[in-house]
Order: sequence, then C-alpha cells, then structure tokens
Amino acid sequence: MATTTLMAIAAHPGDAVFSMGGAVAQHVRNGGKGVFLSLTLGEKGAPAGITAEQYGETQRAASMKAAKVLGAEFELLTYPDAEIPLRDQAALAVCDVIRKHQADIVITHWSGSWHKDHQHCHLLVRDAVFYASLKTMNRQDPPHGVRKLFYADNWEDAENFKPDTYLDITDVFDKFLAAGGAYPMWRGETGFRYNDYYSSLAVMRGCLSGFKHAVALMSDMSERITRLRTL
Ligand SMILES: [Zn+2]
Repeated sequence: MATTTLMAIAAHPGDAVFSMGGAVAQHVRNGGKGVFLSLTLGEKGAPAGITAEQYGETQRAASMKAAKVLGAEFELLTYPDAEIPLRDQAALAVCDVIRKHQADIVITHWSGSWHKDHQHCHLLVRDAVFYASLKTMNRQDPPHGVRKLFYADNWEDAENFKPDTYLDITDVFDKFLAAGGAYPMWRGETGFRYNDYYSSLAVMRGCLSGFKHAVALMSDMSERITRLRTL
C-alpha cells in the first residue's frame, strides 16, 4: 500500500498535538506520513508575566519539538489567536497546505465547540477539503482529493460529539505523552490539566474499544453511509 498522509488541522498548536497527536503518532508508526497544521500560534493563552508575542514563540518552538518526537511535520499559519477569520482566503490557505502535502486523511475540530476559533477552524477545513479537490480551482499545487474526514475528541468541542471510530494508540502512547510534554500548558501551567485529561481520556477510550490506550474519532456525517447489496 502506498504511503498515506494524515493531516491534523487545529485552531491552536495544543489542540493539534493533544487531541489529534495520538492519531498522528500511530499513523507515522504504521508507516504513513503525519503533518500538523495550526492556524494560529495560540499566543493569547499567555500566562501572566509573559507577552503574547513571547508566548507565541514558545508555542512555535514547542510545536517543532513535538513534531520531531512524533516523526511528523508541523505547519503554522499565523492568524491572530482568538481572531481566526471566517473567510474564503483562510479556507484557501488551508486548501494550499492540504494540496502541498497531498493529505489523504484529515482530522480537525468538531463543530460543537464553545470556542469561536475552533468553530471557524471546523468550517474552514470543510471548505478547504472541498477547494483542494476542485479541479477548476487554480492554485500553486494541483487538485487533491481528501479520502476521509474525521473530527477529534477535544474537551472544548464536546457538545454532541459522538465517536464512531476507535484507533489503538497503545504502541505510541508514551511518545504521545512526550510530544504533549513539549508544551508548558500540557502540565497545567495555563490552568487546565491537559496531561491528566488527555492521558486519562486515552485510557477511557481504550476501555470502550478493547485496547489499552485509544483515541476516539467522529466521521463526518456524509461519510457514515455504507452501501451494501446484502447484509
Ligand atoms: Zn484551542
């Protein structure tokens, strides 16, 4: 089987690595290519005593480190944190990264989020996947069809999140934790205990799916149809 590319597209670097990094790690482990794309540096999550600009650079460095740990690549678009624009221009920027890496599978935010950046990212990625495949949409790279679109299990996007796919990440669980550890926020330095939440979540999802550690994913509604001639 040819190498396939999994692309994890998030509003903020932490979302990409914490809620989608397990799937990326497993994909790389299985011989595929893994690419993260964050639409912002997540700089406005800066803790007291550090400027947003300084924190953005910390986030950038952490992202490069996390990608290295997982054997993946990390792309960053630098829209202002908390102000990701819901415009075709942004969808086309995401489309260009999808075409550049020829992403076969895309994971992004579920729409049921209280966070406007996450909602915008969800909508932009859906449009970007459409634009990427559109043969008459002339961009630098040729058209490319994404085969599968999934939504990630994110504590901030939990409204009506209904997983239908479980991925065994037992073999890469330690690597996933190490990648998360590249970010200061992983250890709860900005308030939420990401390490405890996402490591426990992998155990909980593993309990439900018969694996030691797992991530749960939700397929796009349009991809939930199975076409059969016989049951
Ligand atoms: Zn976020």
